[in-house]
Amino acid sequence: MSRVTDEDAEFPILCETCLGENPYVRMSKEARGKECKICSRAFTIFRWLPGRGMRYKKTEICTTCAKLKNVCQTCILDLEHGLPVQVRDSALSIQDSVPKDETNRRDYLEQMAGGLNTVGQQPDFSGRAQPAGREMLKRMARKEPYYKRNRAHICSFFVKGICNRGNECPYRHEMPDGDPELAKQNIVDRYHGNNDPVARRMMARSAATAKPGSGLTQPPEDKSITSLFVLGMDASVTQDDLRAFFAPYGEIKSVVVPAKGNCAFVNFKHRKAAEAAAVAALDGCVIKGRSLRVAWGKPKPKGPQSELRQAKSASGGGASAGSLANAEAYPSQDPTALGAVRK
Ligand SMILES: [Zn+2]
Ligand SMILES: [Zn+2]
Ligand SMILES: [Zn+2]
Repeated sequence: MSRVTDEDAEFPILCETCLGENPYVRMSKEARGKECKICSRAFTIFRWLPGRGMRYKKTEICTTCAKLKNVCQTCILDLEHGLPVQVRDSALSIQDSVPKDETNRRDYLEQMAGGLNTVGQQPDFSGRAQPAGREMLKRMARKEPYYKRNRAHICSFFVKGICNRGNECPYRHEMPDGDPELAKQNIVDRYHGNNDPVARRMMARSAATAKPGSGLTQPPEDKSITSLFVLGMDASVTQDDLRAFFAPYGEIKSVVVPAKGNCAFVNFKHRKAAEAAAVAALDGCVIKGRSLRVAWGKPKPKGPQSELRQAKSASGGGASAGSLANAEAYPSQDPTALGAVRK
């Protein structure tokens, strides 16, 4: 039996951004050009220039590995949403099923490569996506390709003030404004959706802006609001845990956990403390290993039950509805849909 391998790749699996503005871009192809950075099997490398003033791009992982995660072979971002694997998979509650141990991984991938190329034998990617997760993905997804990402690298000599190549220099002559975290990213971690600093920050930011108008970045205009709303808790997170997390930012008046216990209000004595805590929560609020969402509280309604009611309405139905979503299916799992589109 002859197995269909990556060597048959006619066209790489790429996101729109990596491909560049011209879909008819010319590509060079080198069969078995390099080892895939995930499965370390030799694969077909494609190289191309995604537009004027851009840097050459090449595929970094093989088509099988890309299909398994529905990611671009070059930037390893999700093909559908343009988001890091970690962001997508935590939103859709998908577990990483690719073994990290090298031998197991190779076996798994060979098995999958066979399955992916046989109609009807696709790997099971079913994830139980909460409606809230899907909504988050939609909100965070890139709507347009981001071609700036393909620009030439910044000239390190220019940065030090010693580049003498002037206009001939193939690198960008500007000062870096980018994010040092990006440089720390590691392709294997990003593929498996672990430890991705960019993903972590995106999720923190998304949590902060989860409710329009209540984003953590912009404290509410109503200065009488001194409370933060915490979502995504479970029974393991206690009032004391919340106090311990938020106490460093200022005096806490009360912590209210409604009966259901999946959310809480942290009421600060002073607005300043709430603002400081909000800024801190922007970088993530992790308590007992749970990543909690934090938002500003709403203006205080009147009446003794107000805090509870407020908590109830703000938690909405989404977080706890737990409906069994349709099984997740990536478009790249359909062998007929692969590579056949662009010429
Ligand atoms: Zn691979
Ligand atoms: Zn890409
Ligand atoms: Zn230069």
